[in-house]
Amino acid sequence: MKIEVIQGDIIKVEVDVIVNATNSSLLGGGGVDGAIHRVGGSKILEDCQKIRNRQGKCKTGEAVITTAGNLPAKKVIHTVGPVYNGGQRLEKEKELLANCYKNSLELAKENNFKSIAFPNISTGIYKFPRELAAQIAIKTVKENTVLEKVIFVCFDDENYKIYKNYLEKE
Ligand code: ADP
Repeated sequence: MKIEVIQGDIIKVEVDVIVNATNSSLLGGGGVDGAIHRVGGSKILEDCQKIRNRQGKCKTGEAVITTAGNLPAKKVIHTVGPVYNGGQRLEKEKELLANCYKNSLELAKENNFKSIAFPNISTGIYKFPRELAAQIAIKTVKENTVLEKVIFVCFDDENYKIYKNYLEKE
């Protein structure tokens, strides 16, 4: 399995499936979620609404799949990252963040996809420490090598440097 890191906007990445860092409502939000719905169009929200009607909210660490609407990817996997709350429940939050990566990879595999792109889940509005989030993301992806290609898409400079550093070290 090939692991790549790029700096940029995930909505432009041409892979089989991109991952959205959403919230449990599945009905849109800010950050990467806002960008995906804005550019992907209303078809994505329609699919999210159907999932909501079927199963209710999406739990933290879990993942669901929808159309990618107008985006270049074939599908979008929506996963709910943990909100960092100052480290009081850190072990649990680390496990939940790992679950986001693991469950997204599994869902991609079930759909026979070969390539996936991840944003830096929970490191925006949810305030998870970037270094720790990157360690968990890289470790979890390496332990679950079910696809041919995984791209970490870093939006900001700091995350890009962190990922580059960890991936070049190994
Ligand atoms: P969360 O609520 O999980 O923290 P955010 O969307 O606020 O979700 O942030 C998650 C990460 O996604 C952050 O590192 C943020 O910089 C990044 N991000 C925001 N917009 C985009 C985008 N268009 N493409 C890729 N990453 C993005």
